[in-house]
Amino acid sequence: MFLSRLSLSLLLSLGFASCSEKPTMETSSEAPAEPTAKVVKTEEEWRKELTPEQYRILREAGTERAHGKIYEEFKKQGAGAYHCAGCNALLFHSDHKFDSGCGWPSFYDPAKAQNVTVRKDLSGGMVRTEVLCAKCDGHLGHVFEGEGFDTPTDKRYCINGVALKYIPAPAKSEEKAAEEKPAEEKKP
Ligand SMILES: [Zn+2]
Repeated sequence: MFLSRLSLSLLLSLGFASCSEKPTMETSSEAPAEPTAKVVKTEEEWRKELTPEQYRILREAGTERAHGKIYEEFKKQGAGAYHCAGCNALLFHSDHKFDSGCGWPSFYDPAKAQNVTVRKDLSGGMVRTEVLCAKCDGHLGHVFEGEGFDTPTDKRYCINGVALKYIPAPAKSEEKAAEEKPAEEKKP
């Protein structure tokens, strides 16, 4: 009896743990169509389209948990592009990704400068530079300068993974070639 109650509570706690886990980064095999103009939506529309966590970050300038599951996922991701989870604008690329150890996805430069904008953020009793998507005004994170990281810009774009949509780069060989030689598929 004791044992079964123990295993039941174990199962319950495991169940709760998986329920409360943060959503992982949105991933798509195909690059989404990018917006050609400003993306303006009502709060209600955003709420419908985004997950609650995406809404909290992008529309309410929230911050995801540091060193969370999404960060672990980000570190393991290979080459690819990062688009805005709100409006699909291309924001960052794995070419500019670096391991800052801060617990959030870090880039030293945007992939498409005109899609990323900044503004002064005085919230939380700090002076920071907020990073936003220029197309939908979604909050992405903050950018820090002069921290001494060995990167070409000495900037750290500290970005919430939840605000990003990852598009893995196609394999180097042509897709057709990959189809012809499925035996050469890489094993993890
Ligand atoms: Zn956007």
